[in-house]
Amino acid sequence: MSVSQYRADDGVAVIEMDNPPVNGLGHELRQEIVAGIDRANGDEAIRAIVLIGGPKAFSGGADIREFNTPKATAEPHLNTVIEVIEESAKPVIAAISGACMGGGLELALGCHYRVALADAQIALPEVKLGLLPGGGGTQRFPRVVGVETALNMIVSGTIVPADKLKDTALFDEIADGDLAAAATAFARKAADKGGAHPRVRDLPLTLDNPDGFFGFARNTVRAAAGPFPAPLNCLEAVAAGVYASTFDKGLAEERRLFAELIESDESKALRHAFFGERAAAKIPDVPSDTPTRDIRKAAVIGAGTMGGGITMNFLNAGIPVTILEMKQEALDKGLATVRKNYERSMKKGRLTEAQVEERMGLITPTLEYADLGDADIVIEAVFEDMDVKKQVFETLDEVMKEGAILATNTSTLDVDKIAAFTKRPQDVVGTHFFSPANVMRLLEVVRGEKTAKDVLATIMTLAKKIRKVAVVSGVCDGFIGNRMLNKYVAEAMAAVHEGATPDQIDKAVEKWGLAMGPFRMGDLAGNDVMWYIRKRHYEENPDMPRQVIADRLCEQGRFGQKTGKGWYDYPDGRTPKVDPEVTKLIEDYRKEAGIEPRKIPDAEIVERLIFALVNEGARILEEGIAQRASDIDMVYLNGYGFPLHRGGPMLYADTVGLFKVVRRMRRFAENPFTDSEFWRPAPLLVKLSGEGKTLTGSA
Ligand code: NAD
Repeated sequence: MSVSQYRADDGVAVIEMDNPPVNGLGHELRQEIVAGIDRANGDEAIRAIVLIGGPKAFSGGADIREFNTPKATAEPHLNTVIEVIEESAKPVIAAISGACMGGGLELALGCHYRVALADAQIALPEVKLGLLPGGGGTQRFPRVVGVETALNMIVSGTIVPADKLKDTALFDEIADGDLAAAATAFARKAADKGGAHPRVRDLPLTLDNPDGFFGFARNTVRAAAGPFPAPLNCLEAVAAGVYASTFDKGLAEERRLFAELIESDESKALRHAFFGERAAAKIPDVPSDTPTRDIRKAAVIGAGTMGGGITMNFLNAGIPVTILEMKQEALDKGLATVRKNYERSMKKGRLTEAQVEERMGLITPTLEYADLGDADIVIEAVFEDMDVKKQVFETLDEVMKEGAILATNTSTLDVDKIAAFTKRPQDVVGTHFFSPANVMRLLEVVRGEKTAKDVLATIMTLAKKIRKVAVVSGVCDGFIGNRMLNKYVAEAMAAVHEGATPDQIDKAVEKWGLAMGPFRMGDLAGNDVMWYIRKRHYEENPDMPRQVIADRLCEQGRFGQKTGKGWYDYPDGRTPKVDPEVTKLIEDYRKEAGIEPRKIPDAEIVERLIFALVNEGARILEEGIAQRASDIDMVYLNGYGFPLHRGGPMLYADTVGLFKVVRRMRRFAENPFTDSEFWRPAPLLVKLSGEGKTLTGSA
């Protein structure tokens, strides 16, 4: 199948790239561009060549569908295509509209001339995937826009409109209106000029005081890059161009630095996150052409912490929300919080006053169920209590119009049971938002046994509209995220019993990269929430190890920030301080239990906590609760502050190597403080490790 068209237009060959959606430079397109250049050069009637894309994109760069396939590296590579263009005896003019990014911009830089529309989007965004522009971008781009501008754009990946760069040598002409006509006219003039056609590679690359410039830039970039190596490699590649005696030497250094990155764990993690997000949107047995239900009006039950945040998501997307509470007071309080949040954004300059009013105007508060009836979706965010949920869903079943989606925000309760309170379980689904719901990107979509396919398809579409990363989870206690978290917290508690302090544990995992350690997180979310769940678990499973210290902490009412004290003391309400009373509580317990505390190394703490996520994650995967390993990672990256550069617990396990992970788990099982039953490695891990395979399919 052809992904471009070739036509002759009165002495000018026009090669029009046509590889939707963004003219990704896949193998076929690269071949066809070379073929087009050769054909034009072999045709005496042709004097110049125009390479053009469509209104949406000249080219968005590499074809992501080709990533990790042999085609990605098959000849002609992008560098070969550029060589062919540079060597063309007839001038090649890039006609640029829409996205001109990454490999697309590098392709344009290989052309002899560039004509662009003012609003074309120019960027070298490779750094966002932990890479650098490896098609000569770090060498050619500084030659046309200057080292400083190029460096800023390459290190940040920022998109800049062509208009902003119109005074640089990047463009020979900024056209308006008919780009193809402007480019062909330009091509004829270029052909008339004759002689050798300019090549960006031949332009000088000079800089006053390069040592001073790069010395300063290196410090700035290093500080901003955190754990990611790509920004610094981008800088080194640009610097190499400045210092190299020839263009080709700079290009070789760019290639070396690129190869370093493509193998780095950090780039693998970023690419995993990028593809993982796209994969999460797909449900194997719900094809992408499944019809969806229209969502024009929403309703939310409960205007508490979650209800208010959930409502904001809809308002932000322009969808009106009717919000129901039991008492006027609660309603007023909930609405006031929503307004306060918007006003905070207004003060930061993110919203205008008119926008705040417009959004608030989309809310209809009510105390009457009858007012909800015509909503297309209703999301329940009332207390986490099955009896309350029962009463709410029985009422919804009576009042909601036919075809409305009935969603629950429950964090732990059985969605199938909730669905059974209605006569329309096919319309019931879990939409588990994360707190604060207007900020956190994750949405766990809990698929009940009877949830209809079109309901799922609708929720996945809606999630995109309200800018969430939706991940499908089957029904189980805690779904994907909290079920894993419970095991991680239990391991943290085992380590405290054994000799670690909450402060040591928090600091160890935070240093490793987690946004917040388990004890600070407990204090923030409310230790009572986990306590409540624990008590239910103790009842269901009397043999399960007790978290005595955590239970005693809660018995003392130390629920966390909301009570001013938890694992830490919060004298100013926010900043945690180690509290001698908690230290004493821990030490007293150890004495009572005859425990001789052991100093546990930080590295062991991190392994135990992270591998607890891995083991439970693997079980979730083998039970089919999660559809794929990367879904679990998307949950942790977007909902639990897992460090992006490690890619999520599943990719991290692959990076360590499953053989090592399994061996460690068996060792942890021997520790009398841990739950040895839990630490039996999940059969899936044992199997994959034995086969030399990975969880995520990564190499
Ligand atoms: P919350 O206590 O802050 O708010 C609950 C609200 O529901 C209250 O305003 C209450 O007045 C109202 N309510 C109770 N019963 C009602 C009824 N029958 N009709 C109408 N309104 C009623 O609780 P929350 O933290 O917002 O949690 C709500 C739900 O979201 C729970 O199922 C919880 O498990 C889940 N959840 C909470 C979090 C979190 O971090 N807080 C995160 C994810 C999910």
